[in-house]
Amino acid sequence: MTSSSAFHPDPSRPVVIIGAGPAGLMAAERLSAAGLAVEVHERMPSPTRKFLMAGRGGLNLTHSEPLDRFAPRYGARAPDVMGWLSRFGPQALRDWADGLGAETFVGSSGRVFPRAMKASPLLRAWLQRLRDQGVSLHAGSHWIGFEDGAPVFDQVGERRRIPARAVVVATGGASWPRLGSDGQGREVLAALGVPGPMFRPANVGARLDWSADFIEAHAGQPLKAVALTLERRRVRGEAMVTRYGLEGGAVYALGPELHRALARAGDGDGPARLYIDLRPSETADVLAARLSKTPSSQSRANRLRRAARLRPVEAALLRQAPPLPAGADDRMLAERLKGVPLTITGLQGLERAISSAGGIDLAALTPGLMVPDQPGLFVAGEILDWEAPTGGYLLQAVMASGVVAADGVADWIAGTGTAREAE
Ligand SMILES: Cc1cc2nc3c(=O)[nH]c(=O)nc-3n(C[C@H](O)[C@H](O)[C@H](O)COP(=O)(O)OP(=O)(O)OC[C@H]3O[C@@H](n4cnc5c(N)ncnc54)[C@H](O)[C@@H]3O)c2cc1C
Repeated sequence: MTSSSAFHPDPSRPVVIIGAGPAGLMAAERLSAAGLAVEVHERMPSPTRKFLMAGRGGLNLTHSEPLDRFAPRYGARAPDVMGWLSRFGPQALRDWADGLGAETFVGSSGRVFPRAMKASPLLRAWLQRLRDQGVSLHAGSHWIGFEDGAPVFDQVGERRRIPARAVVVATGGASWPRLGSDGQGREVLAALGVPGPMFRPANVGARLDWSADFIEAHAGQPLKAVALTLERRRVRGEAMVTRYGLEGGAVYALGPELHRALARAGDGDGPARLYIDLRPSETADVLAARLSKTPSSQSRANRLRRAARLRPVEAALLRQAPPLPAGADDRMLAERLKGVPLTITGLQGLERAISSAGGIDLAALTPGLMVPDQPGLFVAGEILDWEAPTGGYLLQAVMASGVVAADGVADWIAGTGTAREAE
């Protein structure tokens, strides 16, 4: 595709949005509200499968913390993402969701959810609004590339080229590929010369070699209010014991450290050691003092259980760590409660990751998310190279980027229209 043959400001053509996830639908809503004709093309038989899957966990839409606390969540990409959030921030997202009847509320962790704790009611109202605004949604329409400046779709075996006024590629990242986003959008753009690293798993569970009896008895149980430490980074939160290892917010938040520690372990630099503090609110001194009051005639396991009021899953977790020496004193036992050492053997893959890192390089796009040497071609959502922990930061940035790309399209059309009128 060359820039001269690319998109055309001809008003009889639709703006084509590729991907009916939250980024694409947000762009479609914004553009159709501005009076533009919009077509959304989705490869799956129905839209927003990942959004619906996110709804199974309650649909954490955003976070209630002040906007400036969002910045560190986006790491090196914070300057770009915070620019998007200045256009569509947490309050705007809540207002939008409430406008669709979601009645958002702030949970005890500060995270924001719809009252229904699922995605389907919000989604139904959203799709109705899009229909009312004239957006046409084409499910089973698989974008395969560009031909003579127009996107081409495989529609159940039939090839269709759709001359477009502008295109927004919002095909998502590459996690949970069976829900539709498998990273192919990045590959098509890469073939056009739009750079960006391959997708890799983010917000993903860690693998550990649990014993068979621990798995049978405790898989599916939470470790509540713990602190996880890896490579000197400590994260408080919750983790879930699974058959393969551990997942949950506190594990996901350690993603970069997990990647680094595993890489070092692969280089023969010792095991990737995670430490779980089972009682982060109590000091080792307090725990040791309580241990000293338990009868020494009791087994070590019993004394630990009583002194720290351990739940069965916590007591069993202690047995997954290398044993302490036979003569370990109360102080050593207390230290163990403050840091149960466990060896991470790997990470889950993209198939089970909540999100992916990598994708289209933000530096290769204009602030309005357009590919500069392909005027009229825009990119939005998780396909872009940024990452964030769970907590609502993903959907917040995804939807904000949809708004920014839509405004970019509208500005570009207004600019090219003006230029044509002046010709
Ligand atoms: C289990 C799970 C739980 C989650 N929970 C939360 C949460 O609570 N809070 C939160 O903030 N985030 C959550 N997320 C992450 C969040 O859902 C994603 O970040 C978000 O959906 C990404 O939006 P997107 O529009 O960029 O991409 P997607 O939602 O992936 O949508 C992209 C769409 O493009 C379509 N597509 C792909 N390729 C093509 C093609 N070639 N042609 C046509 N269509 C194509 C796909 O089928 C898909 O429908 C969760 C994710 C998972 C997997």
